[in-house]
Amino acid sequence: MDIEKRTERIKARFKDVFSVDGEDITFVRAPGRVNLIGEHTDYNDGFVLPMTIDREIITAFQARSDGLISLHSYNFSLSCQFSLNKIEPERNASWANYVKGVIYLFREQGIKLSGMNMILEGNISMGSGLSSSAAMEVATALSLQLLNGFEWEPIEVVKLCQRAENEFVGVNCGIMDQFVSLIGESNKALFLDCRTLNYQLIPFLNEDLRVVICNTKVKRGLAGSEYNKRRKECEEGVSYLKKYLPDIKALRDVTEDSFEKYKCFLPGMIKKRCQHVIKENQRVLQSVAALRAGDLNKFGKLMNESHESLRDKYEVSCPELDLMVEIAWETEGVLGARMTGGGFGGCTVNLVKENKVAEFEREIFKRYREKTGISPEIYVCQAGKKAGKIEIVPVKIEEGR
Ligand code: ADP
Ligand code: MG
Repeated sequence: MDIEKRTERIKARFKDVFSVDGEDITFVRAPGRVNLIGEHTDYNDGFVLPMTIDREIITAFQARSDGLISLHSYNFSLSCQFSLNKIEPERNASWANYVKGVIYLFREQGIKLSGMNMILEGNISMGSGLSSSAAMEVATALSLQLLNGFEWEPIEVVKLCQRAENEFVGVNCGIMDQFVSLIGESNKALFLDCRTLNYQLIPFLNEDLRVVICNTKVKRGLAGSEYNKRRKECEEGVSYLKKYLPDIKALRDVTEDSFEKYKCFLPGMIKKRCQHVIKENQRVLQSVAALRAGDLNKFGKLMNESHESLRDKYEVSCPELDLMVEIAWETEGVLGARMTGGGFGGCTVNLVKENKVAEFEREIFKRYREKTGISPEIYVCQAGKKAGKIEIVPVKIEEGR
C-alpha cells in the first residue's frame, strides 16, 4: 500500500479515536531493519552490518494542552492514556511501553514535553527479528522532537531509544537496531562498530541484485532465555581468556591467532560460543571489504558461513530456519543465505539475482510448505525511506468541466 493511502487511513482513524478534525497532524516514519551479517556480535563489542528495509512504523501526532499522552495502536486497535507526570510501565498494554520509555527518558533528561495524541501504525512483521520495536522507539523520539521543537544529536537519540527498551521494556538488546533505524539509508549496508559507534554507509545493491527476507513464521520461543544464556557464556569466555590475555575487555579484542593458541583452556561449550563470535567479527570485516570491491559472490559465501556457525557453534538456529536456508542454497541465482536476528525462529536473509527472484520465491514457498505445512512470508526488499518527517503532498483534485 502506498504512503498516501496509509496516511489517509491513519488520519481517518485519528479522527475516530480522538474526535478531532485532524488537520494539524504531523506524520513521521522509522524503518525496520535486516541484519546482513554479524550476528550475536553486538553485545560482544563487535561489528555488525545491517540495512534498513522498506517496512516502517508511522506515527501521526498532534499536541494537546492537558498534559496527557493518548496513544493508539492502529494495528491492535488498542488505546492507552497516561499523564506526563506519572509514567510507569504498563502491565496490560506492553506495546505502549516502547513509547512510554522514550517519553519517560526524555523527561528524565530535563526536556519539557507537551501532551499529545498519537497513533502508531506499522507494516513490519512483529516479533520476526525485523525490529518493529526499535522502529517504534525511533519514530516516537523523532515525533517528540518535532512536536516539542528540540533537536538532539542522532547518536544520543539512538542511545536513549536503546535505554528505553533496556530499562522500560526490560529487553536487554544491543544498540544496533535503534542505530540503523535512525541512521541507516536504503540500499546501503551500515557497517557499525558497536564499541566506538563509528559507522560507515556502504552502497552495495544494484538493479541486478535483491535482498529477500523469508519469514519461517516460527515464533522465537526460546529467544529470551537462550539469549541471556549466550550473553553469559560469552562473558565467561572473556574471563577464562583474560588469564592469558589480560588486556582484553570483550571477545572483540581476541584475534583469531590468540584464540587458536588459548582455546584449549576453555570448556567445550564456551569454546564453541567464543569461536562463533570471534570468527563472525572477522566475517563482517571481510564482508565490508568484499562489498567495497564489488565482490558479491564472496559476500554471499560469508553469509553462508555465518549460518553454519550460528547453527553448529552458537546453536541458535532451529529446524525451520535450517530448512529454509538449505532450500535457498540449492536454488539457482542465490549468492548467499543465512538466518538473521537472534534465532530460534524468525527470518532468513537471502542475496538473490534479480532475474531469479520469482523462481526463488516459488521454490521457497513450495518446498518449505511441503515439509513444514507452514506458508512462509516472502518479502523482496525495495528501496525504502530514511527515518524522518513524512512530507504529505496534498492530493490535487481535478476540476470538472
Ligand atoms: P521485533 O522488534 O523483532 O519486531 P520485539 O518483540 O522486539 O520484536 O517487538 C515487537 C513488539 O513491538 C510487539 O509485540 C508490540 O508490543 C510492539 N509493536 C510493534 N509494532 C507495533 C504497532 N504497530 N503497534 C503497537 N505495538 C507494536
Ligand atoms: Mg525488537
